[in-house]
Amino acid sequence: MSKIIDGKAVAEKVLAECLEDIQELKNAGVTPGLAVVLVGEDPASKVYVGSKVRKCAELGLHSRKIELPVDASQEDVLAVVNELNDDPLIHGILVQSPPPPQIDEDAIVRAIDPAKDVDGFHPVNVAKLTLEDASGFVPCTPAGCMRLLKEAGVETSGAEAVVIGRSMIVGKPMALLLMSKQGNATVTVAHSRTKELAEVCRRADIIVAAIGMPEFVTADMVKEGAAVIDVGINRVDDSSAKRGYRLVGDVAYDEVAPKCSAITPVPGGVGPMTIAMLISNTIKAAQQSMA
Ligand code: NAD
Repeated sequence: MSKIIDGKAVAEKVLAECLEDIQELKNAGVTPGLAVVLVGEDPASKVYVGSKVRKCAELGLHSRKIELPVDASQEDVLAVVNELNDDPLIHGILVQSPPPPQIDEDAIVRAIDPAKDVDGFHPVNVAKLTLEDASGFVPCTPAGCMRLLKEAGVETSGAEAVVIGRSMIVGKPMALLLMSKQGNATVTVAHSRTKELAEVCRRADIIVAAIGMPEFVTADMVKEGAAVIDVGINRVDDSSAKRGYRLVGDVAYDEVAPKCSAITPVPGGVGPMTIAMLISNTIKAAQQSMA
């Protein structure tokens, strides 16, 4: 019954659209520019930053990678952000999360010019999302989830949607998007204190899982015919895998998929969309900088 949503294919479609916009901007004399700031040596963060910068190069975007040592101070990071705020060749800035513990991440996010906050985490952009002001930047992962639902033909209007997780990066913005006039869904946000979670989830026509626990959503929690978007990326030990681990989502895919009308796999579902939406936000920032 289930239709597997191919996140890689949808991401490629988004990036093909981006290429057209990039060309138009270049014709007008503007090359969109993205700056990625990495503080410290977190291996996963290094991989994410590397792939963002590579994707920029592939698409002909200008990019800067700024690496700061693990013992960088708050002032060091703020100085870099301020310099990037003033750099006319840079339209998008992101500081890779999580920074080392001495860094106050919220203060760094607040220091980014909201017009360059392509992650969509600055309070101005959070407010714009809430207000449905289209000039704001929507966080990349939930924006990608919305696009996946659309491309898979999942009707969100009037649907019962359950978002599991209430983070500022995924759960909350996802709920806002689903309940907005763009989504028109009836939304329940479940979290670690939710009672009778399985029962809540069984009501859902659409489940978005953003928990960070491997294979947490099991078949008994999913209504027959529901659409399931799995945001989770979890490493689980696997001695048969070359790296000694494999990636699984927050959904027990093998048992849940047969019940679904549509489902995203992990990997190859939401993951590829996040970077595509980042590029898309950077282009939007460049376009808006010309207005
Ligand atoms: P987070 O840790 O900030 O939030 C997790 C949420 O899950 C919390 O709101 C918490 O209330 C909820 N939760 C925890 N235990 C629960 C329980 N027992 N029942 C119900 N809810 C529970 O995580 P996050 O940043 O939102 O990320 C969630 C997952 O998505 C992680 O696996 C992360 O790696 C992944 N992620 C993927 C992408 C991507 O590009 N695909 C992007 C961001 C995050």
